[in-house]
Amino acid sequence: MGVITGSTRLLGVIGHPIEHSLSPLMHNAALQAMAQGQGAWTSLESSQSILSHVYLPLAVAPTHLKVAVDGLAALGWVGFNITIPHKQTIVPLLSEVTPLAKAVGAVNTVWRTAQGWTGTNTDVQGFLAPLLTQNRDWSGVEATILGSGGAARAVIVGCAKLGCANIRVIGRDRTKLTQLQASFAGAAVPMAIPIKTSTWDRLSHHLPSTELLVNTTPLGLSPHSENTPLTDEQIQQLPPTALVYDLIYTPDPTRLMQQAQAWGLDSLSGLEMLIQQGAAALEIWLQDPPPVAVMRQAAQAFLR
Ligand code: NAP
Repeated sequence: MGVITGSTRLLGVIGHPIEHSLSPLMHNAALQAMAQGQGAWTSLESSQSILSHVYLPLAVAPTHLKVAVDGLAALGWVGFNITIPHKQTIVPLLSEVTPLAKAVGAVNTVWRTAQGWTGTNTDVQGFLAPLLTQNRDWSGVEATILGSGGAARAVIVGCAKLGCANIRVIGRDRTKLTQLQASFAGAAVPMAIPIKTSTWDRLSHHLPSTELLVNTTPLGLSPHSENTPLTDEQIQQLPPTALVYDLIYTPDPTRLMQQAQAWGLDSLSGLEMLIQQGAAALEIWLQDPPPVAVMRQAAQAFLR
């Protein structure tokens, strides 16, 4: 176990609710390993290392967000993650937002500067990390994204960064799809991304040309793990080289991933995205790469 001293600095995650968050587990495992790696022993008998940072879960109701964020500044916190429902509402409370977070339209990582709080979004980096280890050129491929909510926005920016030729979002609400499309178009946006949109009844039409299929809906999320966004017949419409990427990580594999595997397709779960977005945040705060393997091991052990 690590030891908290007067010099231990504070990190955390703000959400409401926050009990489900895996971030405290992953981050504290990494901080512990980093402290041990630095060999700062408090006593030879206890073999305990001094923690330079700890990471705490903070349940903050929407009405208390501003006072909480002001309080963290007064208390000298280094930074924090932001999760549902605060990813958009945090923005006016920040002195600076990175162009990437502006493009996504949401902030998940905040750090303190002399001017105040700066926010960015590490979900894009998290989404991209497992794709970039695939030894495959994603530029020019067609990506189909199921769902049009918050996670879909990070996936759209990620697909644009990969250079995907066609980025199509499948949603159930035409008005929301039109608004989403508009929010990525025009000169005023930090990153103009031409996306196409379709409703679910048109999905089968697009599957034969889809090389990257990303599920950003909660269909298949535990405890409703019998659910899946695609029928077996639809899975079989995908080309044999297609990759099926489910952002859900409980269960792992999801029913969608099992369908893909049964048809001989490659698949990815959302666990690596979760780990890598966390690792990217930790690197911002510590200015040092964290032990990603330790974070992965902690998350996998907990989920098992
Ligand atoms: P969100 O903002 O609520 O968006 C969910 C999207 O799914 C919406 O477009 C919604 O459509 C659609 N949807 C919901 N139920 C549906 C159904 N029965 N049929 C068709 N579409 C449906 O949620 P989010 O924050 O984007 O998160 C979505 C999923 O991604 C969650 O399962 C979450 O756990 C996962 N996620 C994973 C990571 C990771 O690190 N791996 C990160 C973020 C999110 P409407 O707009 O029409 O309601």
